[in-house]
Amino acid sequence: MTTKKRYEQDVNLRELDTTVVRLDRYLDRPALVLSETIFFPEGGGQPWDLGTINGVALAGVLEADGEVYHLLETGVLTNSDSPSAAFAPGQQVHLMLDWDRRFDHMQRHCGEHILSGIFFREFGGVNRGFHMGDEYMTIDISLEHNPDFETITWEMAVHAEAEANQIIWQNLPVTTRRYDSKEEAAGIPLRKELAVLEDISIVCVGSPDNPSDCVACCGTHPTNSGQVGLLKIYKVENYKGMFRIYFEAGKRALVDYQAKHQLIVTLGKKFSAGVEDLLSKVDAREAKSSEVRAEFHKLRQSVIQSRLAEISKTADEMKDTIPLPKVPMIVRVYDDLPVDDLMTIGRGMTGKFKGLLILHYPTAHTLFLFSDGKPDCGKLVKDHVDIYNGKGGGNPTSSRIIFNKPDYPELFIDLLEKHLR
Ligand SMILES: [Zn+2]
Repeated sequence: MTTKKRYEQDVNLRELDTTVVRLDRYLDRPALVLSETIFFPEGGGQPWDLGTINGVALAGVLEADGEVYHLLETGVLTNSDSPSAAFAPGQQVHLMLDWDRRFDHMQRHCGEHILSGIFFREFGGVNRGFHMGDEYMTIDISLEHNPDFETITWEMAVHAEAEANQIIWQNLPVTTRRYDSKEEAAGIPLRKELAVLEDISIVCVGSPDNPSDCVACCGTHPTNSGQVGLLKIYKVENYKGMFRIYFEAGKRALVDYQAKHQLIVTLGKKFSAGVEDLLSKVDAREAKSSEVRAEFHKLRQSVIQSRLAEISKTADEMKDTIPLPKVPMIVRVYDDLPVDDLMTIGRGMTGKFKGLLILHYPTAHTLFLFSDGKPDCGKLVKDHVDIYNGKGGGNPTSSRIIFNKPDYPELFIDLLEKHLR
């Protein structure tokens, strides 16, 4: 015997007394089969209902061969320590629907019907995919049958959104009619050809003679379009030759609006702006910050040039020193420039100094070594890196070494001075 689906006659039924037909297992879980149910099993892109049977929470609801399996947590049917949780065939049980969850599904699902109907009516777009996610819903609209449209622009989406909300505000009846065969359902103005041959449910928004939308669907829907409340499109994306519409409906659209409004208010406080002048204040801040970036860049270049000039002067003076050390060394400590600028200074001395230039960057306990290849900077690091637990490497003309203690760079410089003297 098949389970009588009471939600098909009355979608607002939230409680019911019925009988356990048998205890079963489905998908490796204990399951109850009941003579009647108010719980919608997963189907048509709509998730399953939840609720309780005699106070025991459902883990899920699935349908197979006309029978609805009310899935329970493992242990509920076999746990003899918990007699209140045990069920037996023939037992009278009380069903309670998690109405908030169901109503959320109905609002979203019906919103999807209405919006798909609009894309069909306005642009000949066919819904080829539907996904109800936690953050948003999507429909994939194909324009394959309509040569008048090649794309769905944002303006078209905004138009569809306005039309969909019109249908919601008209509070049209949403009706479900059932047919035994495809032939019986012939002549109904469906937006999508029938995929099933028998036991067909057809859902219409508006008068069945001239509906705003009409499609085969097994899900649960509110009785009037007004219950959907609100529909908002978020974005349109190209998707496998179709157009993926991201949107939300019902309470979730309101919650999203509240979150985005709060975000605007917070941003407004940061920018001392209201909604009307927030964008212009953000633009002004952006312009100011790119001005500051340009000034900062100019300043850095000027510091780099003056440092290069100062090092070059020292290098020139060293030429007059008699006797010259075996390897002349210049050491500078710079903590006020980014690492990239230290590299620019070091490389800027290439060919201008016959010796070893060491730039010390104390913030990161780091030394940068530069030369014309004599001495070999990479080899200097490689040969001495372990002495002060440094890490680094490089090539003959430049290398880098990072230490884990702040006083190690200076000790390392002393070591190199002795080594190169
Ligand atoms: Zn539906």
